[in-house]
Amino acid sequence: MTTSVSKKMRLFGLQHLDRIPQIRQLSEEQIFATRVVASVLPFRVNNYVLDELIDWSNIPRDPIFQLTFMQKDMLEPKHFSRMADLIKAKAPKHEINQAANEIRLELNPHPAGQLSANVPEMNNQSVPGVQHKYRETCLVFPSSGQTCFSYCTFCFRWPQFVGLQDFKFTTDEANQFLNYIEQKKEITDILVTGGDPLIMSASRLSAYLEPLLRPEFDHVRSIRLGTKVLGYWPYRFITDRDADELLRLFQKLADSGKHLAFMAHFNHPRELETDAVQQAVSRLRNTGLQIRTQSPILKHINDDPEVWSSMWQKQVEMGMIPYYMFVERDTGPRQYFEIPLVRTWRLYQRAIQKVSGLARTVRGPSMSCLPGKVCVEGIAEINSQKLFVLSMLQGRNPDWVKRPFFAAYDESAVWLDDLRPAFGEKEFFFEAELQKLLRKDAGQSTPKAPALENRRLSS
Ligand SMILES: *Cc1c(COP(=O)(O)O)cnc(C)c1O
Ligand code: SF4
Repeated sequence: MTTSVSKKMRLFGLQHLDRIPQIRQLSEEQIFATRVVASVLPFRVNNYVLDELIDWSNIPRDPIFQLTFMQKDMLEPKHFSRMADLIKAKAPKHEINQAANEIRLELNPHPAGQLSANVPEMNNQSVPGVQHKYRETCLVFPSSGQTCFSYCTFCFRWPQFVGLQDFKFTTDEANQFLNYIEQKKEITDILVTGGDPLIMSASRLSAYLEPLLRPEFDHVRSIRLGTKVLGYWPYRFITDRDADELLRLFQKLADSGKHLAFMAHFNHPRELETDAVQQAVSRLRNTGLQIRTQSPILKHINDDPEVWSSMWQKQVEMGMIPYYMFVERDTGPRQYFEIPLVRTWRLYQRAIQKVSGLARTVRGPSMSCLPGKVCVEGIAEINSQKLFVLSMLQGRNPDWVKRPFFAAYDESAVWLDDLRPAFGEKEFFFEAELQKLLRKDAGQSTPKAPALENRRLSS
């Protein structure tokens, strides 16, 4: 393959909207709407997305435009007009910020008990920058990896990027996460996430990853990096200054005998089409690392079986392994992107029917909820009664995994919270035990966010 021309990254945020070369393609109204919504939710886009991904002849419908540019309907009308009025009136900055924060707090900033239920303790202190929900896998949020190459409009990690206080997870300077992982011998997988950990320089990333090669971490068998770098900045592995150093680091980790994997986030097949991404994937695969792919299913971006089947097929051809299809989480602008579970499941089924077994490695549609990852297995009819067949791909208690359970049919349900057990039962099989597990966690010494009581199974 030929070498790409070197591309220097340019990032554009709310303050630099006017400097986006293509911004004139938007109407005044669209620009204003972007300004309003981006005062509440994070906005950032780079020159690769602008120049090589977005089809400017098809805005606002273009899926990559929808993925990165704010749309008016991403805020509820009352929130939108409140913010629009302030901006039109040229309100002082602190007033805009205060209104923004009030709106943000109404958008369920921390779904799935993330702050309250997933942060482990060591010596009576919570371990900074770690979430440990499923026995074998520990999530690490490196402090210097908490931004992204562009921000996805649907992102469930949005509170981190707008600087909402108390809504940040990051590792501390002493890197206590390493002590925690060293002590917990049941941890076999580390998933480094963010933000995007690939925003870090090769040397910073290596400071997080190389210690895991020491003998005291022999129990850690797989290292995963959750990243959207291939979708948003493939030049990271081609012409960025430390591209080769980064590839050498991956080679070293992959040669160590542990499994090294990218959990690569792609939302649309367009992201697989550029020369840059094809070169990046091939260079990465040459180091021995494995690339698995994942995405939520989103209205306006990829709610079409053809989009998914062609994306999976292309991924297989490029040597990647389709891994997860997620249901959009119950936070931020979710009402803009949500699709009823019934339709979501049909889309998944239609898409998977179009591809061979090599692409049927993808699991889902999966909801990351308080008890675990709940998968919609299908819709069945029993005694002429329609119902959802569900199971867990991951569970707070591993014994829950892969036990089929049933929910009453509901055309409009978009999340586990909306579902009721089938056959008139009072609760799902795991609910009593879940409450027990959460109470046990709540006995930890650090104060917990109060969110859990109001929300039955929410994430
Ligand atoms: C999805 C997820 C994992 C990884 O689960 P796998 O099934 O091993 O891919 C780990 N921790 C959390 C919190 C997750 O949501
Ligand atoms: S790349 Fe990932 S973390 Fe970053 S904005 Fe997109 S979904 Fe969120």
